[in-house]
Amino acid sequence: MGFNEIVLNGKYVIDAEIKLLTGLHIGTAGNSLDIGGVDNPVIKDVYGKPYIPGSSLKGKLRSLMEFYNNKLTIGNVAYSVYKNNGGDGSIRMHMCDKKDCIVCGLFGRNHGQHKIITNSNGAYVDRTFEEAVEPTRLIVRDAHLIDESITDEMKDNMDFEYTEVKFENNIDRITSAANPRQTERVPAGATFKCNFVVNVYNDDDKKYFEALLTAMKLLEDDYLGGQGSRGYGQVKFENIKIEYKGKNAYLGKEDKKVFGPFNSLNEVKLG
Ligand SMILES: [Zn+2]
Repeated sequence: MGFNEIVLNGKYVIDAEIKLLTGLHIGTAGNSLDIGGVDNPVIKDVYGKPYIPGSSLKGKLRSLMEFYNNKLTIGNVAYSVYKNNGGDGSIRMHMCDKKDCIVCGLFGRNHGQHKIITNSNGAYVDRTFEEAVEPTRLIVRDAHLIDESITDEMKDNMDFEYTEVKFENNIDRITSAANPRQTERVPAGATFKCNFVVNVYNDDDKKYFEALLTAMKLLEDDYLGGQGSRGYGQVKFENIKIEYKGKNAYLGKEDKKVFGPFNSLNEVKLG
């Protein structure tokens, strides 16, 4: 089994706000009836407030970076098995063993066996990436709702304390009958607090931090959650603060650089 020396040099810690420009729907795995009786509820934390799971945010950023960096090619895509309420499923995602891969380096490379797709008919070979195993650099925390971002004025037009319910119509093409379906969503204007950490190993290059910034910019021109093609899930990052902490910062010493706050991603500059 291969082993590459890995030395932690420091961490980029990014705090920002995610503002919803349109309603957001991140559903729950079970898609079951909520206590309120709404079909298609949004995921909520233990306090009953909607939140953005770190895993959803990270998965979306990863997917955008895979497309952006042309990583979805034959030989570089694996079947990844996941567990769900309804049983196991599998998705296709990028996975490779290249040491300098910006996507695998930032978002992580699962160990164990992968089914790597070898042709356009979906044939695959089993491979392990033991030689290329390294820790994931990026940590994405759950993004929690900032209560005050939902104003009294907004609440006047909402169905619940933190959410609204929209009816989406699917039209039968033969009978023209509408088939309305409820979707719970967090309203435009609501804002969440997010936090990212990018570990810097071996060298102090900024490429992984910059890759995260690119992914965040791509997300602003894409969408978070479901029903994006219907306009849901448009977001903007605001109030962005960045700290670079060297190792000595964890010993209480001055080994920290602070950048920002920046109003938007385009304004972000390190030094
Ligand atoms: Zn890769």
